[in-house]
Amino acid sequence: MNPSCRNPIQCIVPPYIVEHMARGDDPRLREWALVHLARAAAIRAVRSFVQQMPAMMVSASPTGKKQRLVYDARKKDVLPGRLVRSEGEGKTADLAVNEAYDYSGDTFDFFFEVFGRNSLDDAGMSLVSSVHVGEADGRDRFQPMNNAFWDGSQMAYGDGDGVVFQCFTRSLDVVGHELTHGVQSFTSNLLYRGQSGALNEHFSDVFGILVRQWRQKESATEASWLIGKEVLVPAPTRRGIRDMEHPGTAYRDDPALGTDPQPDHMSKLYTGPADSGGVHINSGIPNRAFVLVAQALGGPAWTTAGTIWYEAMLQLSRTSQFADLAKITAQIAGDRFDAATKKAVKAAWKKVGL
Ligand SMILES: [Zn+2]
Repeated sequence: MNPSCRNPIQCIVPPYIVEHMARGDDPRLREWALVHLARAAAIRAVRSFVQQMPAMMVSASPTGKKQRLVYDARKKDVLPGRLVRSEGEGKTADLAVNEAYDYSGDTFDFFFEVFGRNSLDDAGMSLVSSVHVGEADGRDRFQPMNNAFWDGSQMAYGDGDGVVFQCFTRSLDVVGHELTHGVQSFTSNLLYRGQSGALNEHFSDVFGILVRQWRQKESATEASWLIGKEVLVPAPTRRGIRDMEHPGTAYRDDPALGTDPQPDHMSKLYTGPADSGGVHINSGIPNRAFVLVAQALGGPAWTTAGTIWYEAMLQLSRTSQFADLAKITAQIAGDRFDAATKKAVKAAWKKVGL
């Protein structure tokens, strides 16, 4: 792949959660968070990965044929690690390997069957995942990574600390979210800062959750809109990493995570510098608009609402803002569907202040 296509690393756990953990009371979690912040292990991992890339690039597959490769990083931060399962091979004894294999396959099938897209680049690109990714603590000891990320070429999953986070392969919507960052790098490639960055996060949440709803055959009204439920160790103060239907309510007064900062309306737009200008924070606003559209239209969200958003993702430019998405989705709804659909889209955006 052309290195100029690469995006910055896109992690599922936002920096403000890691910072909250670093300030918390639990010494073990504090150490985990401080290591994560100080060492930026993911970036080091990418550097190692780039050096190894030529050896693992696989030629493009014929249309609609998946090419999955799952590697075991063996608790170190060097990607990709040792190849443990290739396309067509049977299950292994390692649950994380099988989840990475199955869920990346579900994501491929979703994009191909629903939108006719042939892998992330629409040209049969291999889906590469590394599991059991670790991070160094500065004393040459490794701990499980408390995150999952897309690095511009592949997926990487940590095993979690076991206190707040569990293995990051557990959640189909997290896998779908990260792989959608890959799709975006070949389409609108929205700049990962401010509103365009929040749109980047938004599209990853939309298609991440749609992979799950499609796999489980759920309608927009019966489905859960929680992102990352299965990667959290259950506790009464947390339900997921984000709630697309009710942004700002995924966790509250949680000793490790704090309180979900996502706004659900433009009047509460975050304008500070944290989180690259609120990319994981302000995505709550378009997320809520998407859910309102999907629920107003009824039936499965991936058909009409999903098609409108997929088309919009192809049409937006690198610096598009929320108002651009609002405008373009209304336009696509009218052109591809009908006046009633356009009205529903406009009404949803109006409810979130756009
Ligand atoms: Zn993301």
